[in-house]
Amino acid sequence: MSINFDSWRQLPAAQQPEWPDRDELEKVVAELKGLPPLVFAGECDKLKAELAAVARGEAFVLQGGDCAETFSGATANDVRNKLKTLLQMAIVLTYAAKVPVVKIGRMAGQFAKPRSKPTEARDGIELPTYRGDMVNGFDFTPEARVPDPWRLLRAYHSSAVTLNLARAFTRGGYADLRQVHAWNQDFVIESPAGKRYEQLARGIDQALAFMRACGADPNEFHTVEFYSSHEALILDYDHALTRIDSRTGLPYDVSAHMVWIGERTRQLDGAHVEFFSRIRNPIGVKLGPTTTPEDALALIERLNPDNEPGRLTFITRMGAGKIRDHLPNLVEKVTASGATVAWVCDPMHGNTFEAPSGHKTRRLDDVLNEVAGFFEVHGALGTHPGGIHIEFTGDDVTECVGGGLEIVEDDLARRYETACDPRLNRSQSLDLAFRVAELYRS
Ligand code: PEP
Ligand code: MN
Repeated sequence: MSINFDSWRQLPAAQQPEWPDRDELEKVVAELKGLPPLVFAGECDKLKAELAAVARGEAFVLQGGDCAETFSGATANDVRNKLKTLLQMAIVLTYAAKVPVVKIGRMAGQFAKPRSKPTEARDGIELPTYRGDMVNGFDFTPEARVPDPWRLLRAYHSSAVTLNLARAFTRGGYADLRQVHAWNQDFVIESPAGKRYEQLARGIDQALAFMRACGADPNEFHTVEFYSSHEALILDYDHALTRIDSRTGLPYDVSAHMVWIGERTRQLDGAHVEFFSRIRNPIGVKLGPTTTPEDALALIERLNPDNEPGRLTFITRMGAGKIRDHLPNLVEKVTASGATVAWVCDPMHGNTFEAPSGHKTRRLDDVLNEVAGFFEVHGALGTHPGGIHIEFTGDDVTECVGGGLEIVEDDLARRYETACDPRLNRSQSLDLAFRVAELYRS
């Protein structure tokens, strides 16, 4: 295995910012190269082993967080609320579906966005699109929208802050199973999903009390493993944070445990696929409805030629209306090739539409329908529906319609806070977790 990880520079890289000043970029990159890793290669390997269990059908992935994290969102409150929602969803899945859940945040690094259009117009003014806090500013002003390479450094520090909080919350007692009720306290009264969760938590309490009475109190009840992930879009950033692992002599992108390639940057002859082929992290690739089985097989050949279990996760995002037509052929051909991949369903990105108010939104019903289709397809083929990949937040935002609290299109303006795509709120996320648990059991 070659340790050269610069080869991507010779290839076309889609969706890269046009930095106004290359010298400034070089200064930032030099600084990033001297900074400590955010994660360790051994942790990435541990996640890879857990994803291998997912590919074997023995565990389930829960991957989620903001579409776009923001620097201002790296606060104790925001991070805790997201983790709380993720933990509640994981508990529902573990308890109701009886399956080990691999918990991966779209957190601590999800700061860059691919865009379908280079510019956007409002009130007759046209400006470059927002590309994530790692690149430019969200404000609709010419100044904010200029790419600023020093934002790469802020992305590193915001990731460090977020990961530190996440590690403290998940290891320092907050994620202790005895807290199952506490996570729900502010939530139970007003929401149907919260009430349903409370019932389940009572069952867990009883099981815990029984175990304690038997003298069993395993470590696993007191902490959880939490992993970070992001779309590795801006190659100057992820490359600057790639280090040679002292144990194995191999390169790892130490900015996150897992990184994925987006739907817009998975060109076989492009720089992203080349860069990803060189790093040893567990990796994902998003596959949209135009993906052919040949594309999928070629990606496997490029990204996991040795068929290492847990190395490659395919995150399909077909859309509720397409998944039942498009997914079977992909799964069938990949399975027939003998390749080992984990299949994860992103039920968000194929189901976005614009409401009359102009808000980009998604219907929870479409999200649930795509997940159901994902389970149907894998059920029919005898393959394992390995997990879900979602955009959610721990706050009571009104960005997606539907759910137990029945958000309608007229509600969207009330709390529409996302910096990019619409996220499920906490109640909708729990609704989804209960549905997935049902599907998994049946
Ligand atoms: C995303 O995950 O926010 C995203 C842009 O997804 P995709 O690459 O699947 O369009
Ligand atoms: Mn998104």
